[in-house]
Amino acid sequence: MARIVMKFGGTSVADLDRIKNVARHVRREVDAGHEVAVVVSAMSGKTNELVGWVQGTPKVVGANSPFYDAREYDAVVASGEQVTSGLLAIALQAMEINARSWQGWQIPIRTDNAHGAARILEIDGSDIIKRMGEGQVAVIAGFQGLGPDNRIATLGRGGSDTSAVAIAAAVKADRCDIYTDVDGVYTTDPRIVPQARRLKKIAFEEMLEMASLGAKVLQVRSVELAMVHKVRTFVRSSFEDPDAPGMGDFLNPPGTLICDEDEIVEQEVVTGIAYAKDEAQISLRRLADRPGVSAAIFGPLAESHINVDMIVQNISEDGSKTDMTFTVPSGDVDKAIKVLGENKEKIGYDVVQNESGLVKVSVIGIGMRSHAGVAATAFKALADKGINIKAITTSEIKISILIDGPYAELAVRTLHSCYGLDKN
Ligand code: ASP
Ligand code: MG
Repeated sequence: MARIVMKFGGTSVADLDRIKNVARHVRREVDAGHEVAVVVSAMSGKTNELVGWVQGTPKVVGANSPFYDAREYDAVVASGEQVTSGLLAIALQAMEINARSWQGWQIPIRTDNAHGAARILEIDGSDIIKRMGEGQVAVIAGFQGLGPDNRIATLGRGGSDTSAVAIAAAVKADRCDIYTDVDGVYTTDPRIVPQARRLKKIAFEEMLEMASLGAKVLQVRSVELAMVHKVRTFVRSSFEDPDAPGMGDFLNPPGTLICDEDEIVEQEVVTGIAYAKDEAQISLRRLADRPGVSAAIFGPLAESHINVDMIVQNISEDGSKTDMTFTVPSGDVDKAIKVLGENKEKIGYDVVQNESGLVKVSVIGIGMRSHAGVAATAFKALADKGINIKAITTSEIKISILIDGPYAELAVRTLHSCYGLDKN
């Protein structure tokens, strides 16, 4: 007997039939004798609808902020998960399974005060553990917690993944199963590369890079949390027949296990290829090459909440002038150019140039730590296809390459096959 947290995303609970199907997945684990807690998202599309309603409300005239009150945003958008937690508890009860719904505040899941993008600080798992011990399934609304102001706080879009992993850590679950509409984590996006393979296992660090660099399977923060608390997390599909053979296999359920690298025996050099669209490049030409220049550029950008990614600074020839290039999401270019314009005197550059519609393609793998020539292989493969590289950044376990948007798919396919990731 084990303790399992099962999380179901929006498409898995999209309507009453899907919710009934989820109940069958839960029943399978309950019948196997496991203690089960379930975390649910809102029905697919629901959160977007709720966010749209909030954004459609009139702004308060004369208020300090041009935005609506974030606490009321949370009161509205958290309601989607409340609905599904109740509906799933009812569906389970209809199958004669002892089940009870829980909202974030009832557990409680304590968060910080950043309404709309709150972080979980602490979860009191004792009530849930007690109920599970008595044979009751806890059905927990994801995406929400209780802020220090005693009000509902939501965790940022995609946050119910984070709820699930945090609850798994708090109740010391043996496993956290994230059920979604794909059957695992793939070496790359199968819509672009049909030869992409489902990974049996992926290390926390690699998954963190994959999620941060564009793979949309899991919220980045949930992977961070799984890594810190060493929560063994399976990504698997809710769309398979809940009672098909192997679905209840405790050690090897169908899907991808995200785990500690020590658990991965046959480590490949490269595990996957990720890509992120809609990147833009900004270059500042002929900057003074002196201490404080970077701070003068990136300080004001950070204050304006512009997320800067790749940064490349040229070495100046004579020690007086240099160039600085960096990337931001395409949607932030205008804001960034404005901020840079306002700080032109302080920064001291000559001209600013920008280009949108770029794509960042990344090669990820823990095996890179101990293998030379991984980057060179990518550069050669891209060159052979005539793909021009605009910027490069690397870390211990990844290489990111910025290219023109129209080459994205070709680049992903090329890199996927040059590292032997294509399935036979
Ligand atoms: N329902 C929320 C969202 O759509 C949280 C989640 O699904 O993870 O962002
Ligand atoms: Mg999600």
